[in-house]
Amino acid sequence: MINEVIVIGGGIIGSSITYHLAQEGIKVTLIEKGSIGNTGAASKASAGGLRENDRDSRELSLAQASLKRWSELEHELNADIEYSPVGQLKLFKEAHSKNQVKEIIDDNKNNGIESYLLDKNSIANEHPSISSDFPYGIFYPNGGHANSLLATTAFANAAKSLGAIIKTGEQVLNISYQNGEVIGVKTQNDLIPCDAVVNAAGIWSEVLHNSLQTEYKLPIKPRIPQMSATFPAPQLINTVISVEGTKLSLKQTKDGKLRAGGGYDSGPGHNKFTGTYSEKSLTEQRKAVLSVLPEAQSYAVDFTYNGAEAESIDGVPIIGGVPDLKNYFLATGFSGHGFTLAPAIGQYIAELIQDKENTLTINGLNIERFRDGAKFYENRGRGHPG
Ligand SMILES: Cc1cc2nc3c(=O)[nH]c(=O)nc-3n(C[C@H](O)[C@H](O)[C@H](O)COP(=O)(O)OP(=O)(O)OC[C@H]3O[C@@H](n4cnc5c(N)ncnc54)[C@H](O)[C@@H]3O)c2cc1C
Repeated sequence: MINEVIVIGGGIIGSSITYHLAQEGIKVTLIEKGSIGNTGAASKASAGGLRENDRDSRELSLAQASLKRWSELEHELNADIEYSPVGQLKLFKEAHSKNQVKEIIDDNKNNGIESYLLDKNSIANEHPSISSDFPYGIFYPNGGHANSLLATTAFANAAKSLGAIIKTGEQVLNISYQNGEVIGVKTQNDLIPCDAVVNAAGIWSEVLHNSLQTEYKLPIKPRIPQMSATFPAPQLINTVISVEGTKLSLKQTKDGKLRAGGGYDSGPGHNKFTGTYSEKSLTEQRKAVLSVLPEAQSYAVDFTYNGAEAESIDGVPIIGGVPDLKNYFLATGFSGHGFTLAPAIGQYIAELIQDKENTLTINGLNIERFRDGAKFYENRGRGHPG
């Protein structure tokens, strides 16, 4: 019987898991080495895009279950998280025929994803600031965006109000285990016993995991995408925009800033988990922004920022138990698209820990899929941006 759980990592994933465990009356402690939504980690830098489109089939049910939850979260967590249900618009260039775009919409329908076709006229009517270079678009009404730092903090605060202990400024140095069973964690201050540990430490989960005695190594690598934000502009767009065949993801946040992301990498940092400003990356990203939104020319880039995401070998998360280590759970490797999934992941892991029947059906996302060893794809992409 599991009564006391330690969650390592106060990003959106660890915070959501802590909240869901606290809701179930489990005694849970979240340990975060910095602050909730720590600087340099993925959740603070996240573009906060919410989408079900362009998902690997293994994580689609998580995205869909999460989107239903996002629409209720401000109320549930009693916090403003700047939730904006503005949909997602994917634009297509001349190279795509109408039939090709329609095929995608048919495919979406078969996967339970709501979407509809926009032609040049409807793009111009509904989104007049968008360049006329795009003959077609697909609009996904169930997407949108939220403020990732506010959402992360909201989960942690709600967990605390339900009795969870939130320790910040405390680093887990290693996970303690005995006879194939996890028994606690060691921090710089303490040796804390518990019945189960959840490793939700983002890209740093690899270091903690790979010091454990398990035949399952964690195949994740750091990726540090660079975001940019302009000075505030009047409202130019009211949806999240991406362009087929490019990395761009673009939105306008509540503060008026045009925020561009989508996998334009930072320059090398002082270690593999950090990045530095890359002019080349910004130039490429800015060019992509202007090709979609020419009026953005009047709004210069105010600042750039980045965060380290844990990219898994196959671009989808690694969640669940580890066969040869009892009471140890992973929730990591969310790559460039884990923000959306946080509500469902919290619920899923909380149910798993309590050995309850899972209300979400998830297949093929646990670490056992790497049983026979794994190599990173040579040219692994980031998949769809944001
Ligand atoms: C620039 C960027 C844009 C993105 N845009 C989108 C988007 O639009 N939509 C979307 O769905 N996803 C997006 N993502 C991906 C999404 O943000 C991530 O998948 C998600 O934030 C991962 O959250 P996490 O909690 O797993 O990791 P993190 O946020 O990295 O959190 C891990 C935490 O663990 C802590 N930690 C690490 N080691 C220890 C230790 N030893 N002891 C204690 N604490 C420790 C860290 O300090 C950190 O706070 C984006 C990511 C980036 C970087």
